[in-house]
Amino acid sequence: MKRIYTADNVAMAWHVRNVLEQHDIYAEVKNEKTYSIAGEIPITESLPEVWVRLFYAKRAEEIIKEHMFPNNAEGKDWVCGKCSEDNAPSFNICWNCQTSLDVNLD
Ligand SMILES: [Zn+2]
Repeated sequence: MKRIYTADNVAMAWHVRNVLEQHDIYAEVKNEKTYSIAGEIPITESLPEVWVRLFYAKRAEEIIKEHMFPNNAEGKDWVCGKCSEDNAPSFNICWNCQTSLDVNLD
């Protein structure tokens, strides 16, 4: 297992877990309970974490990135994988053929 995401709160951890599950990646939320006693232990050990099997880690990280930063936070133009048109970073779907950025990232 590998930790692929540290969330600010339990809800966010579960959101990430659910997103991964929609992509057929089984994930576990850890530190849910320790989170509830945050303040008594170092904060870095108390934040909820999302873990996946090592085999899925790379793909899971990519999925999280695209879901947590849906507007392509790196601010780079992207090229549609279907029609090869350039798209602005703020577009989540291709302006030309409406293929979603999610599909292009797959
Ligand atoms: Zn396109």
